[in-house]
Amino acid sequence: KKEAAQAEVNKDDLRSPICCILGHVDTGKTKLLDKIRQTNVQGGEAGGITQQIGATYFPVEVLKEKIAPIDPEEKQVFKTPGLLVIDTPGHESFTNLRTRGSSLCNIAVLVVDIMHGLEQQTLESIRLLRDKKTPFIVALNKIDRLYGWQATPNGGFRDSLAKQNKSTQNEFDTRLQATIVAFAEQGLNAVPYYNNKNFAKNVSLVPTSAHTGEGIPDMLQLLVQLTQERMAASLMYLSELECTVLEVKVIEGLGTTIDVILSNGVLREGDKIVLCGLNGPIVTNVRALLTPEPLKEMRVKGAYVHHKLVKAALGVKISAPGLEKAISGSRLLVCTDDDDEEELKDDVMSDLKDLQRWISTS
Ligand code: GDP
Repeated sequence: KKEAAQAEVNKDDLRSPICCILGHVDTGKTKLLDKIRQTNVQGGEAGGITQQIGATYFPVEVLKEKIAPIDPEEKQVFKTPGLLVIDTPGHESFTNLRTRGSSLCNIAVLVVDIMHGLEQQTLESIRLLRDKKTPFIVALNKIDRLYGWQATPNGGFRDSLAKQNKSTQNEFDTRLQATIVAFAEQGLNAVPYYNNKNFAKNVSLVPTSAHTGEGIPDMLQLLVQLTQERMAASLMYLSELECTVLEVKVIEGLGTTIDVILSNGVLREGDKIVLCGLNGPIVTNVRALLTPEPLKEMRVKGAYVHHKLVKAALGVKISAPGLEKAISGSRLLVCTDDDDEEELKDDVMSDLKDLQRWISTS
């Protein structure tokens, strides 16, 4: 009974894993994200998908619906409330996110164009993922461009492949093998996800089409499975604050604001925050925690919802005095009565060297 009560308490403390999408330009990163966001429901915040600051949140109900084509009996178990996907695809944003010690992303999708194989920015992305030890899967995108491809919109990949004629299947095999060889040259053992017996050792390839939606159920199911199996159990619970500044923006009526991703922990209105500034550490108090107004027909442009408290994982805009010199990529810390403010200032400023290196090379 006590255990059950404990489980009940902990359920509210669960946080969602964070996913980044990266890869070479034109491989379909943006299109894939758009396709995942698409639902059958017209208008509104369909099915609970919520647009946040710099990220999109997919609750479990939406993931279930999207995985349904390959999991009609709903056998997939979900242990987290949902999945947070960072909206700005590309490795620039990923490089900029230098939370020390840990990485902002719990998992990444590396998008590769099946017609082009590994390209220059694919290799750069692989380096970044390795540096940060971020687990990743590969979306082998644009399968609809294989000669003679007959689409089953939003279908599971394996069913779709089975329906293709022999020559299309052969072309798929040839390109798949070429990709596997290219990954091997990078020292990576890539295998189609359905043949992957060791997720810790091998990189999973998921064939997808951002145009037809094929393979997207497979990709989402794999993301769910991998984050649940490979993320340390502790990572699924709200714990110590982990927060990163994505962008510094001047907003009419609000002044300079920061868009942050809260990867772990809780932020409250009024919290004293410490972050990295160009002229030294910034210490200020949170005036407002803002997320975009839900998508309604009569959406007022630039209208925000105010929150007293926000929980990870999510993207949120912070309005506070004195943010003019804030640096994107900086960590954000909360200073409680028990904390030594000077120590926190030193902590955030120790990131500056890394950040400057990034700023000077970009
Ligand atoms: P990004 O630069 O990686 O974000 O690539 P985009 O999402 O902007 O896509 C680049 C181009 O490829 C666009 O013209 C897309 O319409 C097209 N594209 C993306 N995904 C697919 C796909 O799965 N199939 C086909 N045929 N075209 C795609």
